[in-house]
Amino acid sequence: MKNIILFGAPGAGKGTQASLLAEKFDLIHLSTGEMLRREVALETPLGLRVRNIMNRGDLVGDDVVVSLIAKALDHGRNEMLDEWDELRLRRACGIGPDDPLPEKPQPSIIYDGFPRTVQQCQMLEFLFQKKQRRLDAVISIDVPQEELVHRIHERALSSNRSDDTEEVIRHRLEEYEAKTRPVLDYYKVSGRLVSIDGSGEIPETNTRLCQVMEYIMAR
Ligand code: ADP
Repeated sequence: MKNIILFGAPGAGKGTQASLLAEKFDLIHLSTGEMLRREVALETPLGLRVRNIMNRGDLVGDDVVVSLIAKALDHGRNEMLDEWDELRLRRACGIGPDDPLPEKPQPSIIYDGFPRTVQQCQMLEFLFQKKQRRLDAVISIDVPQEELVHRIHERALSSNRSDDTEEVIRHRLEEYEAKTRPVLDYYKVSGRLVSIDGSGEIPETNTRLCQVMEYIMAR
């Protein structure tokens, strides 16, 4: 049961790469951005609270995102089966096709877009202690700033994300520099940080990530 954080600035390709890795290595893909967008789309009380914050490009409160992650880890079986088919869940947990599924299977997870502040890192540590999980690795996808801006603008042409406008993109990158970059230093000290070059095309970055993942998964 592995726990891997995929780290990167907006536009680094975390979402795309996390999906590819989840498919290849049988991982649950937890994206706080996606979870929040789902709440907004469903107009839940939480969604209504965070909608404007996200539209401005600000970070949502630490408590909110940590509670979403805690809920996903708690729900275990049902929530995860919604997003996943049972066969993959069985494979990921090493449960045979005829063996009963435990109430709360513990699959490997890739975290995308979380943690995004040092406070969230500390809260995650506490959460892991409670859930008897441990952090295996933090993989940072490094992309130069100019390339990030270029990519988000390209994505904005085809996406209907309401936070992909010029001004909001700039603000999201500012938020990243001020609040999220310090997360790298936090994990650097623990020796669990691996950085890979993400400036190339999707398959190129994916190959690099897969090499790192093979090593992590085999440990
Ligand atoms: P990107 O990394 O491309 O900006 P995400 O989908 O990861 O996109 O996040 C979109 C928005 O959701 C963020 O700008 C922020 O408002 C909110 N969000 C997502 N994850 C977090 C988090 N861990 N902490 C605070 N806010 C978050």
